[in-house]
Amino acid sequence: MRKKINIAIDGHSSCGKSTLAKALAKELNYLYIDTGAMYRAITLFALKNNAIKDGELLEDKMKSVLDNAYITFKYDTDSKQVDAYLNGDNVEKEIRSMQVSKHVSVVASLLDVRKKLVRLQQRMAESKGVVMDGRDIGTVVLPDAELKFFMTAELEVRAKRRYNELIDRGIEVSFEEVLDNVKTRDHIDSTREHDPLRQAEDAVVVDNSNLTLDEQFTFIIGQVNKTLEPGTITS
Ligand code: C5P
Repeated sequence: MRKKINIAIDGHSSCGKSTLAKALAKELNYLYIDTGAMYRAITLFALKNNAIKDGELLEDKMKSVLDNAYITFKYDTDSKQVDAYLNGDNVEKEIRSMQVSKHVSVVASLLDVRKKLVRLQQRMAESKGVVMDGRDIGTVVLPDAELKFFMTAELEVRAKRRYNELIDRGIEVSFEEVLDNVKTRDHIDSTREHDPLRQAEDAVVVDNSNLTLDEQFTFIIGQVNKTLEPGTITS
């Protein structure tokens, strides 16, 4: 049996990280952890607990209620997807709304929020065999991950993919709104003080602007096989 490793996938908003991470986890029989879903669930929690008022994050309020937020993941046997839960409720649909997308990067900039979620993510990866995607996985959460990818694609390409995804889900939105949201989130994520989006020095870069899913997958599996060369095979 091959030994298990941790795989970190970071990159800009809507560049297809989760699609690839899910496919990779399935292929390797690893656990897929969507850290963006965790920041989205915390944002939903902030909205429900009045820690966001008139579009502004009330930091003191947020800090005072943060301990009451419990985020878990559960496998749904029907959809064969891992769903995010907030305090026992399945919030997988709600966290993908534009309202959550609009506030998530500001909530994710708060140090207390990051500390809480990074700790949780590190615990989830302790036993290895994890594919985790996000913004700071290769740099902060799992700096020792055996394999790291940094994904990106042109802004317009990413916004178009995200727009199509939302329309497919029946969410009414304009392309301009999506483009603006992706651009704003990238800016906040890359310039924030704590754990900004950065490419880890040892990450393999994948620009998928002109790559099909199959091409990306083949490339990534090739990298995994290289990392798990015969020398690394255990029992
Ligand atoms: O991956 P997704 O686009 O769903 O992430 C939503 C937001 O959560 C990002 O725009 C970013 O602000 C935040 N995030 C983060 N660190 C991570 C994952 C997501 O700050 N590891």
